[in-house]
Amino acid sequence: MHLTNLHTHTAYCDGKYSAEDMILAAINSKFQSIGISTHGPTSFVSDWNIQADRVENYMEEITNLKEKYKNQIDVFLGMELDYIPGIGFDEMSRSLIERLDYYIGSVHYLGYFNSGIMWTVDYNLEELTQGITESFGGNARFAVESYYNVISEMAISYEPPIIGHLDLFKKNNKNNVLFDEREDWYVNAVESCLKVIKNTSCSIEINTGGIARGYTKEQYPSTFILKMIKDMEIPVVINSDAHTTEGIDCKFDEMYKLVRELGFDSLNYLTREGWAKQNI
Ligand SMILES: [Zn+2]
Ligand SMILES: [Zn+2]
Repeated sequence: MHLTNLHTHTAYCDGKYSAEDMILAAINSKFQSIGISTHGPTSFVSDWNIQADRVENYMEEITNLKEKYKNQIDVFLGMELDYIPGIGFDEMSRSLIERLDYYIGSVHYLGYFNSGIMWTVDYNLEELTQGITESFGGNARFAVESYYNVISEMAISYEPPIIGHLDLFKKNNKNNVLFDEREDWYVNAVESCLKVIKNTSCSIEINTGGIARGYTKEQYPSTFILKMIKDMEIPVVINSDAHTTEGIDCKFDEMYKLVRELGFDSLNYLTREGWAKQNI
């Protein structure tokens, strides 16, 4: 089996270690490839995205590491880019896409506080609740539906190679404080989004970052969504959204078991020649 992880963060953003540390951890875990996917730059101030003036250093460093370790592991130069409602990928992100081996398209930011600052769905419940109040009149359902619409729009407009943590919205929904994933409207919102993704070249990632860090009981996306993804034959990859070296293969064995149980017969992975499928 080709062991890989295409969703890893470094000290260029909110990760803890250098890209080289992450690559060494991957080699240590017997991976055949690793993708470094630092949070891409944003046009506004953010303490978890790479600073715009460090982007060239990042590109150069990963390119050098690719060469340095080429006999031990395939290193891919990636980024996790922020798709912003009303904007899409901003100009800087768009100019980076063609220079990267791949990228993960993610929706973290969903709206603007009355102060004009953007809020995210994943920071914490307090921020999310305030965001829902100020942008969606306090209606969590409207916010969730809008979130899935934004993901659909991203999938159609850009076809990112990987769609990041599809149901990230559940991260701050402990004990169903905001909504219940079993409600019809929620399932319908997810289903409509998957129908859009199905007609694109995107893969959806199975992301263990939420369970690894104790935020969620299940991986992103939840198992009932994975069943829908399998039925629609949308390709998947397994990633850990690692922010540390220890997280490089977090819960991967459980995920291989889960996808087999659900009846998936293949996983997508990236090679030097492009995307490929492997049987599982
Ligand atoms: Zn993310
Ligand atoms: Zn990430």
